[in-house]
Amino acid sequence: MTKPIIEVKNLAKEFDGNPVLKDITEQVNPGQVIVVIGPSGSGKSTFLRCLNLLETPTSGQVAFDGQDLTTLDTKRVNELREQMGMVFQGFNLFPNMSVLENIKLAPMKVKGVSDADATKRAHELLQQVNLDDHADAFPSSLSGGQKQRVAIARALAMDPKVMLFDEPTSALDPEMVGEVLNVMQDLATQGMTMVVVTHEMGFAKSVADRIWFMADGYIQENSTPDDFFAHPQTERAQDFLSKIL
Ligand code: ADP
Ligand code: MG
Repeated sequence: MTKPIIEVKNLAKEFDGNPVLKDITEQVNPGQVIVVIGPSGSGKSTFLRCLNLLETPTSGQVAFDGQDLTTLDTKRVNELREQMGMVFQGFNLFPNMSVLENIKLAPMKVKGVSDADATKRAHELLQQVNLDDHADAFPSSLSGGQKQRVAIARALAMDPKVMLFDEPTSALDPEMVGEVLNVMQDLATQGMTMVVVTHEMGFAKSVADRIWFMADGYIQENSTPDDFFAHPQTERAQDFLSKIL
């Protein structure tokens, strides 16, 4: 049996006594693409941030590669967190650095990779996201879609075991959504393990192995895309889908 790369047990998270995640038990296997969907405010971002302990769970366990992050010291959590790439809605590139420097920074600073090796790898990654001709550009000269592709390349530069995406296309002009989703689809095809929060239902249908539908603090449904979109089981999911499809 495959060992899960992420294992969440009885995860709960409240903010000032207000429960956002109530009791979540799920796992992600290596190579799986999980798409998390659900209404705004249902806790999708909080859940993703709990997976790499950017948020501290109120209770429950979050294990990465067999190690329960909630029991580890900060140093160890940071080491494991490096193996989880994260891409947010905003691009968070360093504005005073070129595209190439943005990508090289963490491998060199955090992992001690040599300048030559980091440069070589950065160019490979830029080719992968179709931006090698922009290696020397500064973020301010890039479109939103280009920035987001650099952000993905930068996350990949740390050779993560898992990529977490929180609405990576929500801030983009519509004509740029496709180029970012294509890069994500390629990553999935190459076998990257991914947890993706998105409202892009076409992507969810064609790329996800499992859909996790989140509402009211729980994963209400964990289904294949075919089952979820054709036969949502809960009233909550039926209602959600009726509003967006
Ligand atoms: P989603 O990503 O599904 O839209 P979020 O995880 O961002 O949902 O938020 C879920 C709920 O948790 C919201 O009610 C939000 O206001 C609340 N929340 C999120 N982060 C914080 C925080 N740092 N402090 C207080 N409340 C928060
Ligand atoms: Mg969110």
